[in-house]
Amino acid sequence: MQEQGISAGQGPTALVLLSGGQDSTTCLYWAIRRYGRQHVYAIGFDYGQRHVEELTCAQAICDGLGIPFAVLSLPAVNDLTENALTRADIAVDAQHDGNAPPNTLVEGRNLLFLTYAAIYAKARGIRVLVTGVSQADYSGYPDCRDIFIKSANVTLNLGLDNPFVIETPLMWRDKAQVWALAQELGALDVIKEKTLTCYNGVAGEGCGNCPACALRRRGYIEWRETCNRASATRHSG
Ligand code: ZN
Repeated sequence: MQEQGISAGQGPTALVLLSGGQDSTTCLYWAIRRYGRQHVYAIGFDYGQRHVEELTCAQAICDGLGIPFAVLSLPAVNDLTENALTRADIAVDAQHDGNAPPNTLVEGRNLLFLTYAAIYAKARGIRVLVTGVSQADYSGYPDCRDIFIKSANVTLNLGLDNPFVIETPLMWRDKAQVWALAQELGALDVIKEKTLTCYNGVAGEGCGNCPACALRRRGYIEWRETCNRASATRHSG
């Protein structure tokens, strides 16, 4: 594991689960606003994801902000399930029917990540875990749901005998509202240019064709239209 100067006993602190994508990077800025930069740490997971470059993006974002970033290696995830996110030989479904989860689902991923993050956090005196999961855009991923997070919070508190607080600033925000939050937090340029959401590994604007790019782009356009409407209303009023 790579680690940079994280030590216990530095007061109230938060650990952001950071993938280098739009959502978790927005959460990083949210945590900095809420807890102060010196009280925020980040952790990422290398689990054989299609584009491990996302961790390079995460590192660069953290370096720019002066946030310590640890990367934990979880190669077993790739041995456990077959899915398009960790298997290069499985193509990402361009579309999927509403009944089945998309084939990029990595079963139990958030449960695993939260567990590892909690163990890591407790050892360093960190109580707050911040994750970018969203029920508004939950896309059939069961461990993005609010009820799952509440349940996991109780389980981790019991299992590790520690009063963790799991914060989910994006839980009820759709992608357009996540863009709005990024602007509020002064993070718009970094999110637009330095994050990686694309399944084809293209940072920033992305490839423009994969489902992740489509979702990100749709949200961005919707947010811009909302801004334009608000501006038009102001000028006509
Ligand atoms: Zn893409």
